[in-house]
Amino acid sequence: MKLDEIKTVGVVGAGTMGNGIAHVFARAGYRVFLSDVDRSILDRAPATIDKNLDREIKRGKLAAAEKPAVLDRLRLATSLAELAAEAQFVVEAVPERPELKKSILAELGRQMPEPAFLATNTSSISITALAAASGRPERFAGMHFMNPVPVMTLVEVVRGLETSEETYALVLALCERLGKKPVAVRDAPGFVSNRVLLPMINEAVYAVLEGVATVEAVDQVMKLGMSHPIGPLELGDLIGLDVCLDILEVLQRDLGDSKYRPCPLLRRMVAAGWLGRKSGRGFYVYEPTGAAADPALAAGASY
Ligand code: NAD
Repeated sequence: MKLDEIKTVGVVGAGTMGNGIAHVFARAGYRVFLSDVDRSILDRAPATIDKNLDREIKRGKLAAAEKPAVLDRLRLATSLAELAAEAQFVVEAVPERPELKKSILAELGRQMPEPAFLATNTSSISITALAAASGRPERFAGMHFMNPVPVMTLVEVVRGLETSEETYALVLALCERLGKKPVAVRDAPGFVSNRVLLPMINEAVYAVLEGVATVEAVDQVMKLGMSHPIGPLELGDLIGLDVCLDILEVLQRDLGDSKYRPCPLLRRMVAAGWLGRKSGRGFYVYEPTGAAADPALAAGASY
């Protein structure tokens, strides 16, 4: 199957990333079927995408007249089977749990027509292992989008051991069609982005736990001193503290090095349901409107 034959794309998981991935495919002209096990999350997706399209219009990146057509291309799939039957290319964006991803990819691999392609947005899990679980390893690749997807241009493109040349070339070309910049990286835990980023976020959490500095001070140091546009704790809240914990666990297990051990404070916050922006509270507190909210320091918080 050639790139031009891909007209309909499936996105599994309508959370932080799935939402954004559906947004960029619909914006690039693809019909998109989005699915999620949580009906309330799925039902919220069109409104979130609508709001994020408005932001692009305000910044002059999208003509207002184009918005209705973008939203029109978005469909909510009521089952994985419906999505698998419609899509020639599916991106999986469910939580960073190897067994969960493998079972969904196996299901998709069974249900999708033979020539269709599968990609995963995993942040850290072996592409080769997920490809094997899908039963179509030659038509499978890693497509690691960055958060927020409509804003960030990078996609790490990862080949599994059996990813074909055709699939690899198709995924690179697809990234370009989405207006993204693909960067090829090897199949290694955390790829480049999270291998480098997550230890920094984890260390920032340790600095707070050990009382080296306040949350705000840690973020200020990295913003003002290292020219980071956003502090590591604010970024952890944006990524999702549960997602950060999942990635660190994969890094620790798959690289076998204790330097990736998740900070106990991160574990405690996730256990408390303080997941960052998506739950309204992480290292900062957020307005109930979620992603658009201005963060404020969790007043009087004691870690
Ligand atoms: P999230 O928790 O916001 O969203 C995951 C969604 O998947 C949830 O809405 C959940 O209900 C849904 N889900 C769970 N089981 C499902 C199933 N069986 N079928 C369909 N949907 C199911 O997580 P996220 O931040 O969007 O992360 C998704 C993936 O993207 C992970 O692999 C993560 O590592 C990766 N990723 C995350 C970021 C980030 O900054 N958050 C960046 C790059 C990649």
